[in-house]
Amino acid sequence: MAAKRDYYEVLGIDSKASESEIKNAFRSLARKYHPDKNPGDGEAESKFKEIQEAYAILSNSDERKNYDMFGHDRPGGSPFGSSGFQGVDISFDDLFSGGFDSIFSQFFGGSQRNASRGSDLLVRHMVPFQAAMDGADDEMEIEALRECSICSGTGSSKSGGSKECPSCRGRGRIDEISMIGPFRQRVRKECSPCRGSGRIVSDPCKSCMGRGRSLQTNRVKFSVFPGIISGTRLRMKGQGETPNLVNGEPGDLYIEIEVEPHPWFERDGSDLLMSLPLSFADLSLGTTVKIPHIDSNTLEIVIPAGSSPGETISILGRGLPSNRSKTRRGSVIAVLKLQLPSKQSRSMTKKIKEIRDQMEKELPPIEKRIRDEASSRRNS
Ligand SMILES: [Zn+2]
Ligand SMILES: [Zn+2]
Repeated sequence: MAAKRDYYEVLGIDSKASESEIKNAFRSLARKYHPDKNPGDGEAESKFKEIQEAYAILSNSDERKNYDMFGHDRPGGSPFGSSGFQGVDISFDDLFSGGFDSIFSQFFGGSQRNASRGSDLLVRHMVPFQAAMDGADDEMEIEALRECSICSGTGSSKSGGSKECPSCRGRGRIDEISMIGPFRQRVRKECSPCRGSGRIVSDPCKSCMGRGRSLQTNRVKFSVFPGIISGTRLRMKGQGETPNLVNGEPGDLYIEIEVEPHPWFERDGSDLLMSLPLSFADLSLGTTVKIPHIDSNTLEIVIPAGSSPGETISILGRGLPSNRSKTRRGSVIAVLKLQLPSKQSRSMTKKIKEIRDQMEKELPPIEKRIRDEASSRRNS
């Protein structure tokens, strides 16, 4: 096996690179090597994994410090556990929306940074199908633990209603010694009894019971972009839960969008698939079907004479906007079906019998038809 490459080298950055340089390098490389862009390319796939691993370490300040000190041979073995880094599924969309941040921030759950951060929240939200065409500005109500508005997050019912925290003696932090392999490391932690503030509330706020945060309902506004697909998570930075600790940062809110189904279209990315049930006469003689469409222009589907059920008709540029290139639209693809009336008048039956006799004469013999059908199926 080839020697493991240096993480900075993998991302093509300097060892002094800033957080945003690391992120930008990761984002552009990940777009280049994403499996969606390189289907079936094993080399791109292992590159993609290598980039992810480098980013997982270098984007985490504690892990980066360890790596800078020890390189790949750190005491205690791989930070990803005994089986090493396994790779993560990141959707191409997440690379644009920044949704990958939360994926990587979960890797090293015990780190100090996470402890002082409020929880991320995930809510699901349904949008009408039309939003996938036009995009939409939307809003919803979120109930979350937020800073208590009565005591402004202090937890105290009156100003000065607190005393020095005995656990940390007012410092807000406590030091713990822990071992990393043979090394003693001093870890500084936020003091939990006083939530890092150094003060203990003696007269707690009645609204939040001295916790400094309470369940509150907020209105959140957000935009759905054209071409959005179900499962896309919109990230609202800082709109998650207020942290338990006084000096922490709030978590993020993720809104997972679900697009309502359309009465007749199925989606295949930006293409729209539909069945078009037609009478025998329309298939035989050809026709033009006009139906209302999501782009508010009438959709005209031209069926040529002599069409057969199962054939498809594609109308380019009338599907949904592609979420990778806003100006391009997919196609509408109509699958032709044959629909016969469930009841037939006697006179119609008589006419169809006549047609059948004539048609039998114009079609090749049945065995040839079967053979032709089978060979075209095998060649397609
Ligand atoms: Zn309060
Ligand atoms: Zn304390």
